[in-house]
Amino acid sequence: MPRVVITGAAGFIGSHLSEALLDRDFSVVGIDNLLTGDLANIAHLRDRDFQFIRHDVTNYIDVEGDVDFVLHWASPASPIDYLELPIPTLKVGALGTHKALGLAKAKGATFVIASTSEVYGDPLEHPQKETYWGNVNPIGPRGVYDEAKRFAEAITVAYRRYHKVDTKIVRIFNTYGPRMRVRDGRAVPEFISQALANQDVTVFGDGSQTRSFCYISDLVDGIIRLMHSKENDPVNIGNPQEMTIKQMAELIIQMTGSKSRIVYKPLPTDDPKVRQPDITRARTLLGWEPKVSLEQGLGRTIEYFREKTKGS
Ligand code: UDP
Repeated sequence: MPRVVITGAAGFIGSHLSEALLDRDFSVVGIDNLLTGDLANIAHLRDRDFQFIRHDVTNYIDVEGDVDFVLHWASPASPIDYLELPIPTLKVGALGTHKALGLAKAKGATFVIASTSEVYGDPLEHPQKETYWGNVNPIGPRGVYDEAKRFAEAITVAYRRYHKVDTKIVRIFNTYGPRMRVRDGRAVPEFISQALANQDVTVFGDGSQTRSFCYISDLVDGIIRLMHSKENDPVNIGNPQEMTIKQMAELIIQMTGSKSRIVYKPLPTDDPKVRQPDITRARTLLGWEPKVSLEQGLGRTIEYFREKTKGS
């Protein structure tokens, strides 16, 4: 039975990844310091082949026994989190990636790093291909996340070239779904929480900035395909269906049947104006394609938030 170590296992993506790998008969070791993760996300995995270790992966990672894959998912990922936690964000992207790579090297395991579309910054190329080097402000407020992930990619490639570790880099675009936190701060969970409470829906700027939203199960399918592939170069995983943030706010208000109205707030510094993945590489190398429509995915996510906020 293959054995996988997942850092950030109690987070939004980490918990779905843990579950999907258990479903595929993996033995899973989940590590999390619960800085932004939540044990409630993995409570249902307790009776399965799932071991949880509470640990901050910026320190030496000690795992006994054989390990076939190390998936480094630990990091604050919502802009409000990394603005409040700039140093932990830098440390987990830099020191945490170093420790997770060290574990993969010691065990002879394949290493997968959760990178991000933020490595492209406020992109001057649209849609974004993996060959684009990006337009990142290193000293802006988002720089702590963007540069940590860019460093993470650099050290990952260095471990492949110098130590011959088998490494994979997935550049994750905006993803949504159940287990995002109610007041996560990212557009989809924020808009759903606000709409369900009939509160004002806060669109930043004039809402003309674009994003392309991928449902969690599609993302997880892409990551697992990449894990098992021979590909070492970065691969974008995201849904190329692009829309404005204002359109997303309107759709969520409509789908929740909410009385909320849209209010406009200042656009955060360095907020990317456009974002859309070019997924040609994922399509051709992994045979991957997102399958869940926006309406289906939002429907399931709204359902989760309704349950979660019931009575509150
Ligand atoms: N956004 C918004 N209102 C909110 C939260 C986010 O208008 O309450 C905007 C944000 O400025 C950005 C887009 O929605 O343009 C997506 O933001 P998110 O925080 O989800 O992630 P990002 O794609 O910026 O990393």
